[in-house]
Amino acid sequence: MANSRDDFPQRVKELLGNRVGWRCSNPDCRKPTRGANDDPQRITNIGVASHICAAADGGPRYDPEMSPEERKSAENGIWLCQSCSKLVDDDVIRYNVGLLQVWKENAERLAIAELQSASPVSTDNTDIDRLRFFVQCFDRPAFQDQIDQEGRMEDFDQAIEDTIIAMNTGVLRTRDGMIIKKSEGKSTIINPVWREKLNTITDMLVALRKRLKIAKDEKLYSTYGKDDVMYCFHDRELKNWFDLTREEIIKILSSICQEAGIPSLHFPKQRYRW
Ligand SMILES: [Zn+2]
Repeated sequence: MANSRDDFPQRVKELLGNRVGWRCSNPDCRKPTRGANDDPQRITNIGVASHICAAADGGPRYDPEMSPEERKSAENGIWLCQSCSKLVDDDVIRYNVGLLQVWKENAERLAIAELQSASPVSTDNTDIDRLRFFVQCFDRPAFQDQIDQEGRMEDFDQAIEDTIIAMNTGVLRTRDGMIIKKSEGKSTIINPVWREKLNTITDMLVALRKRLKIAKDEKLYSTYGKDDVMYCFHDRELKNWFDLTREEIIKILSSICQEAGIPSLHFPKQRYRW
């Protein structure tokens, strides 16, 4: 049987590795893939020119619409270390074509930035570490549940306040006051677009707290049920505003993550709207 795999020619493999400085393109990894071998005449290579869309039918992310030429072209390849190469092929939902293309573009940009920079520390990676911290700050019920299922409003308000502090200072406190993670505040983000979006998110968090206070003062919601933990919003528009504003916050955060090529939060649970 003829070989039906559209493998990359050696020239394409070299090109893919060279374009990212022989580092793994996974932003979570960035491992160098080439170095000296004990044999002075040889190198050790743990890098792989991986297919974004599989080389053969039935493989990960296979695209039947592609021609064999497209399948074995550099456009369809990404340089990864061996373990990341396996990782992306084991979960094609999470590591989809779009995400791999973002990884590739960012790794190429980073390789150029490193050539141009005097310092080996890349600014992009610093941003990415901080973005990961911010994503963690939003991974809590205050950004996942409908407003009337939040439990006590005081706790919800506290969770929002803690998130604002985390965005500004890089310190995240749990509900019992314990510091669980430390980073830097959003003002240290170097990418101006991401910094602006994070400012917008923080403004929206502040607006959430302000409106919550007004709602409380004007008694726009009331408690019911055992232990006063169920809420009834008398103003549906206000209730929807709380839900939509938080949804919008997660959307903006997701758009930054997508641009940075890092995993984002799952969208909030499906909301019921009137
Ligand atoms: Zn890797």
